Amino acid sequence: MFFKKENNLSYIDSLKNIATHALRLLKTDDPNINETIEKYIDMIKSIKDENSMNKMRENIVNFSIKYGDFIDNKKKQNDYLIKSIINALSQIAKDYDSSKHWQESFLNIKELLKTEITLSVLENINTILKNLIFSAKDTKDSVYKELAEIIFSTLDIAVESDKAVEYKQELLALKKELYFNSALLSTISVRENLKKLIEKKEKLEEEYFNQLQEKLKQAVKALTYVMNTLTKDISNYGDEFQTHIDQIDSLVGLENIDVDEMSKKLIGIALKIKESTISMNNKIKQLSEIIEKSKNTIQQLQEKLKEAQENLIIDPLTKVYNRRGLWHFLEHEIEKARRYRKNLSIIMCDLDKFSQINNTYGHQVGDKVLEVFANTIKSLSRGSDIVTRYGGEEFLIIVPEANLDQAYLFAEKIRTATEKLKFKYKDKEFYITVSLGVAQFRQEDTIETLIERADKMLYEAKKTRNATVKEML
Ligand code: GH3
Ligand code: MG
Ligand code: MG
Repeated sequence: MFFKKENNLSYIDSLKNIATHALRLLKTDDPNINETIEKYIDMIKSIKDENSMNKMRENIVNFSIKYGDFIDNKKKQNDYLIKSIINALSQIAKDYDSSKHWQESFLNIKELLKTEITLSVLENINTILKNLIFSAKDTKDSVYKELAEIIFSTLDIAVESDKAVEYKQELLALKKELYFNSALLSTISVRENLKKLIEKKEKLEEEYFNQLQEKLKQAVKALTYVMNTLTKDISNYGDEFQTHIDQIDSLVGLENIDVDEMSKKLIGIALKIKESTISMNNKIKQLSEIIEKSKNTIQQLQEKLKEAQENLIIDPLTKVYNRRGLWHFLEHEIEKARRYRKNLSIIMCDLDKFSQINNTYGHQVGDKVLEVFANTIKSLSRGSDIVTRYGGEEFLIIVPEANLDQAYLFAEKIRTATEKLKFKYKDKEFYITVSLGVAQFRQEDTIETLIERADKMLYEAKKTRNATVKEML
């Protein structure tokens, strides 16, 4: 059954139905909230045409903004689903003049809603809605990736400057805004803000790195100064000591020895030697304390520097290269492949239904899964392969000197090893799968065109999931 734009009443009815159900699920013991919900449900009921439909979108968006905190506090297992349904609804309501594909999906949702609303029904609805947004806007890459990247990986910035605090605040504000209104993600201004924030973060990291380098230089300078002073003092002491020895020598060399006189002189010299030795000892003790301290400072700085250097290109969670690392190495490998006419392939992987893992077991488990998956790729790769985290749950592997078929075999190895991984959460066991796209470098390629082709193959693989697709040569 088709809905045309000029006759979208049943389509609107479907939307009304879903929205009403979703809102009812939000009811609590709080009469104020319930009253508001009823008000919105009434508003939704009164929707008859396109204009009032737009109004509904606004209302739903407003509702999710206004009651975001409360939804958050409820902490029920299906809150997230409700929230994403509401967000998805507002997005869909906005883009409703679309294809048959959409209308069919809505019919499916309507059918689902006729049965009792359980968690799994909600999950199914959520999947349908997500797929809709997916296919309609092709947001897969740009939107989700940027969101995931910003929210999950940029918060761990370790910079000790005021600017970092400022950055974090901006980030949190944007995160909050997006969380309660994911429809905003499609607006250009928000996307640009996201990009700017990523750039800011990278700049902060670079600044931090440079600062550390400067500090290290200073510490080394200070240490050199102390060492120089010490050497000078020691050589002064040596000179003084030599003078005393000469004095003793000349005393011993005298022909008519007056023993009393000589003992007096020797005692005098010995006392002087003792004095200067004590003061030298004190000086050495002081200086060696300073040296010890600056040695520690230098060591600490060196460690921090190493960490900062790694942070520039390593993803803290999975310890594989981050996007900056990816860019750096891929550029280099492309240059090599072009110049020496060598093979070069890349594999793009994306974990399947990863948000379900987060939703079911929580983010920490999700993080652990990412770590294990990254380690699995690493354990299967050769020394020359370069494993990178492209975004949230997406990884890109650079496979130098491999043609398409060789890279495909490698990708298949990753896929089959991944489906065998067994995860445990409390007394439950679960498994994951991954989809992969493979592309081979061509002479005319840039980084962007090569990644784009691998991404297209990944998109093909996603149609069935747990699949590897290579491009056609
Ligand atoms: P598909 O099978 O189509 O790939 O579905 P999916 O759920 O994997 O894809 P989607 O892009 O919708 O969701 C990816 C999710 O990955 C979104 C985000 O919640 C999650 N994610 C991204 N980065 C991280 C991270 O660092 N830690 C955790 N725990 N989750 C992350
Ligand atoms: Mg993804
Ligand atoms: Mg995924």
